[in-house]
Formats: sequence, C-alpha cells, structure tokens
Amino acid sequence: MAKAKWTIAIDGPAGAGKSTVAKLVAKRLKIKYIDSGAVYRAITWKAIEEKIDLNDKLAIIELTKGIKIELRSKKRVFVADREVTKEIRKPIIDQNISLVAKNECVREQVVKLLQELSTSGGVIMEGRDITTVVLPQADIKFYLDADVTTRADRRYKELLAKGEKDINLTQIQQEIEYRDTQDKTRTTGPLVRTKDAIYFDTSNLTIKQVVSAIIAKVKYFHRLNWDNKFYSILYFIAVFLFKILYNLKVTGQENIPLAGGVLIAANHVSYADPPVMAVALPRQTYYVAKEQLFEHPFLRWLFRNINVFSIKQSGASPQTFKKILNLLEQGRAVVIFPEGQRSLDGKLQAAKPGIGMMISKAMEKCPQSKIIPAKILGTDKILPRGAKWLRSGNLEVRFGKPIDVHQLADYSSKEKYQAIADAVMERISKL
Ligand code: C5P
Repeated sequence: MAKAKWTIAIDGPAGAGKSTVAKLVAKRLKIKYIDSGAVYRAITWKAIEEKIDLNDKLAIIELTKGIKIELRSKKRVFVADREVTKEIRKPIIDQNISLVAKNECVREQVVKLLQELSTSGGVIMEGRDITTVVLPQADIKFYLDADVTTRADRRYKELLAKGEKDINLTQIQQEIEYRDTQDKTRTTGPLVRTKDAIYFDTSNLTIKQVVSAIIAKVKYFHRLNWDNKFYSILYFIAVFLFKILYNLKVTGQENIPLAGGVLIAANHVSYADPPVMAVALPRQTYYVAKEQLFEHPFLRWLFRNINVFSIKQSGASPQTFKKILNLLEQGRAVVIFPEGQRSLDGKLQAAKPGIGMMISKAMEKCPQSKIIPAKILGTDKILPRGAKWLRSGNLEVRFGKPIDVHQLADYSSKEKYQAIADAVMERISKL
C-alpha cells in the first residue's frame, strides 16, 4: 500500500521564520523541503550577473526560459551547475528581487517548476503564493507572520552572522516594508492570507515553539495521536488483524487529503466496515453508528472513546447534521454510509436522501471539504450479518477521486438531495 505523504504549504512575509521552521519540520516529518524564494533569488542573481536591465521584462523572460536551477539538500542552490547558495542571500538580491517576482511570465514558469518538484507529495514548501497558486490542494496550510521590526531585526542579525558589514537596521526595515508592499500588491500571485491557512504570529515565539506548534497541528490528524489513546490502541490491533490476517489491500489512498474536512461516503455491508476503514484511511476519522448500539453501556463507553457518535436509523437528526458539520469545519474526516444500514446480500442499495442533504449543507458551510467515495469489499464474508465471530477471507478498500459536488448540486431544490445521494452511490458502485 502506497504510504500517504504530507504536502504542507507555508506563506508569509520576509523574516517571518518560514524557511528555518520549514526546514526543521521537514526533518522531523522526513519530507522534502522546498524554498521557493530561492528560485526567484537565483533568477535575480543570474540577471544581475549578466547585467540585464531588471526593468526589461522580455529580457528577464528570455533569461528565465533558458535557466537551469537546482535546489539541492541543505538549502544549496545551483544555477547551471554553479553553486550560488551564498550569493543569492546578499542584500543586492533583496533590493532587486521584486522586479523579477512581479513578472507574470517568470511566475508562470517558476510555478510550473515548483509544482513538478512536488508532484509525488511528501513535501513542505514555503514562499508567497504556495497556499494560493502553487499548492492550493496542500493537505495543510500555514501563514507565518511577525511584526516588521522583529522581522527586520532577524534579517539584520542573520546578515551580521554571515559577515556582511555594510548593513543598517533602519535600511533593512525599509527594504522589508518595500518588499512586503510589492509582494502583497502585485497582480499575479500576490501574498495573501487565505481563510484555510493556520495563522501564527511568530514575533514572540522561538523557532522551537513554532516548529512544535506546526508539528502538533499535523499530528492532530494522525491515526496514532496519543491524545486519543483508545483510538490509537485499537488502531494497532486492527492493523494487525486486517493487514496481516486478512491481507487488506487499499487503493486510491492518495485521494484523501491528510488534513482538512473530508466526508468519506462508503457502502455498508458489515459491522467490520468502520474498523476496516480506520485501517485503510491515512488519518484519524470519525464515525456514526445507529442509536440502538449506544444503549449497551460497554459499547456506549467504547464508542465515545473512539470517535463514534450516534445517528437515528430513520434518518439523521439536526444534531447529527450539526455534529458532522462542526467536525468538517474543524478539518476532521468523517465516514458515512449513504445506504443508512448494512446491505442484506452484500449488493449496493439505494442511498437515503440524507447524504445528499448532508453534502449540500457541508458545501454551504465548509466549501473546502472534500467528498470521497469509497468501496469496501470482503467484510460481508468475514463478518456477515448475524455472525458472532470473524471468518476467513480477504479485504479490500478502494477510494475514488473527490466528487465535484458543484456539478451534482445543480438540481431543482426538492429533488436535489436524492439526486446528490444517487450520484454518490453511482460513484461508489463504479469503484
Ligand atoms: O522567501 P524569500 O525572502 O527568500 O523570498 C524572496 C522574494 O522572492 C520575496 O520577497 C518575493 O518577492 C519572491 N517570492 C515570490 N514568491 C514566492 C517566493 C518568493 O514572489 N513563492
């Protein structure tokens, strides 16, 4: 089973601590770090080196087309096999880079290069337009900020440490302010703080504190999150059981964002479906179970400890809807079974309109949420209706691509919910 890999996007102004923090987070999570600013810096360096007038847009575009930039490990940057790691951090680059960075054609090419570098996932990238243009589908987004005096002070100390002598704090602050304005007001790929980016003001935080805060946000979604011990312990047991004894095969896991609101709509054939899903999904998830199961004191206690909440068999109550919407808003993943109850013969049943209503409301309240179809195979053999013990068999879970709800929701209001529900079932059946 391909391992799900994090894609993390960070934006923010100069000196907010993005690169230092991103590098450390990459090390902790064992993912690749990409400093997008280094690419714009390398182009600016080359243009200055070749004495190109930075106001000559066409000349800069030509230069960008032919340039070979390589980002190697340890923040080393190469232009046509020449190392420019130190040169691109010089004040002259800071002072001139805005002219290059506002060039639409240059941006288009850099965005393409950055996207190519991150296609396989497992990456943390920082810059100005990463959350908005380069990786808008990132699993998790951050916006790091700090007041301008703190940022200028950091940059000043950084340059001093590098042995730069001819520097002045006030001038550095003015340059940062100028660069901020240029970055925030350019027409293509401006620096903006999006709603779905987690905001940190790092002015009074140490690097260690920011790194820990980011890792904590990421871990919040992990299956093995010890804040929820029961989930983690049962997850371990279920992994052993389903992966080793039942040879669980999972496909399409890459369709599940590792963070952010996700509604997973699956077929339902057995009580084994929720724990199998827990193993198949790359992240901690919430489940709904019919109300009657909560009458049993042990099950009630257990369910409360493993992210399961109740739903009326006759249909979801307003409280259930509210609960699911709140979870999606908090960026959680929820598994729902559109058929409402387990299938008698293992075949797919018709969906209840409730799922249509749920999706429709989710799209209104938290439009960033993703709706993923999933098909579970084999649980009806290992734990059929009425069976008390597990039987032998093989298991498989297939996840589909996110459903574009805006295409589905174009129905007259009364039939809309059933139509959405039917379309979701159809997507499940095709998996
Ligand atoms: O992050 P760093 O300070 O190295 O970026 C230098 C400059 O490169 C920024 O001020 C900005 O003008 C440009 N840049 C950009 N888009 C990015 C990254 C950097 O325009 N994604």
